[in-house]
Amino acid sequence: MARKTLIAGNWKMNGLKKDARALAGGLARKMKKTKRPPFEMLICPPFPLLGLAAEVTRGSGVKVGAQDCHFSASGAHTGDTSAALLKNAGCAYVIVGHSERRTDHAETDKLIKAKAEAALAAGLKVIVCIGETLKERKAGQTLAVNRKQLRGSLPAGATAANTVIAYEPVWAIGTGVVATPEQAQEVHAAIRKALKSKLGAGEADKMRILYGGSMKPGNAAELLGQPDIDGGLIGGASLTVADFWGIAEAV
Ligand code: PEP
Repeated sequence: MARKTLIAGNWKMNGLKKDARALAGGLARKMKKTKRPPFEMLICPPFPLLGLAAEVTRGSGVKVGAQDCHFSASGAHTGDTSAALLKNAGCAYVIVGHSERRTDHAETDKLIKAKAEAALAAGLKVIVCIGETLKERKAGQTLAVNRKQLRGSLPAGATAANTVIAYEPVWAIGTGVVATPEQAQEVHAAIRKALKSKLGAGEADKMRILYGGSMKPGNAAELLGQPDIDGGLIGGASLTVADFWGIAEAV
């Protein structure tokens, strides 16, 4: 089953306007020069930079996404952002359930599911993040934890066209310690199996499962070469054109 590789950059809380202009602009120029790229490229800047990123990348094929959204369509939620506004600002995607939000904001699977459903209702695609901690891996709970998070946070109405799963082992995020291709493939295969029992083989075979956790140009080819790894959710290495494009080139 052909699944188009998704190379997604999570800028986290990094960058000012000038940085966004240079990074998004640099990627847009490279994309424009690439004939029929065999990957989809997505950048996810902080909220205030979304409009600028959408403007700079317009017509290039580089898509823009947000790093979070609220579960309500609108209303009295100070400091939050609705999925409808993200769509209006030029976003195609939104990430939900990143481990940093699960930790920093005590986000639960239930809340993440509600956010994902709000995103789908607004016409955005969602990237639902799951992943085990080092403690859980050491305790032999890796597959069970990922299955539980998947079950709890997958939105109703999820299809291969509107939902992407990102497997991000917490111990590999921003640490420089990358999962081996075998470790990642084992979890990706288990996620696909769980998706099959939830959505049926048709959707599960088409749904993209990204790996995230210290992916770099030097380790991307091996990871992306695994049968169930359909792209990357990339933090640190998405902050320079050279590194992020280097990962895309590994496709
Ligand atoms: C992430 O933020 O989703 C991530 C995987 O970060 P890094 O690539 O820096 O490990």
